[in-house]
Amino acid sequence: MKVVEILFYNSHRVKLVVEMPDPNKYSTRHSPHIPGLLFKLLPQLARHRCENDGGYSFKKECQSTEIPHLFEHLIIELQARAQPSGILKGETQWNWRVDPKGRFHVYVDYENEVLVLGAIRVAERIINALDNRSIEDIDMDKEIENLKMLAKLGSDLQKFRVSTCTP
Ligand SMILES: [Zn+2]
Repeated sequence: MKVVEILFYNSHRVKLVVEMPDPNKYSTRHSPHIPGLLFKLLPQLARHRCENDGGYSFKKECQSTEIPHLFEHLIIELQARAQPSGILKGETQWNWRVDPKGRFHVYVDYENEVLVLGAIRVAERIINALDNRSIEDIDMDKEIENLKMLAKLGSDLQKFRVSTCTP
């Protein structure tokens, strides 16, 4: 899975364009090992709420869902672990009548723009490590520590604004 575009959609929401390298392998139905490994890495994800057509719990939904949808929940979870915030929401959409198959549009709320960029990159790495069955490459505690540092940097930056404009 690859994030090909990051757009700061408005002051609290980021939009990502995500592409699957194999457009026919976009669901956990095609990669059933991914959700199991993901909940092993971050058991708290099981508490996530998720609105889906079947009315399933997020954990049940994960057995058959789009991989970018897991990615969306992961970005939300990583932000929550790094910095207390209000409820952050997300949404995953696709329309393959318009876009090539395997492209997704993922929307995620944020409060701290530096943190959300870090969380997107870490989440992308985690999803790819899960896909390759190499979760030993992910040091979750260290990743969260790094994200906490980014969160602090981001909130320090929000305290002041400087304009330096040169031709
Ligand atoms: Zn969801």
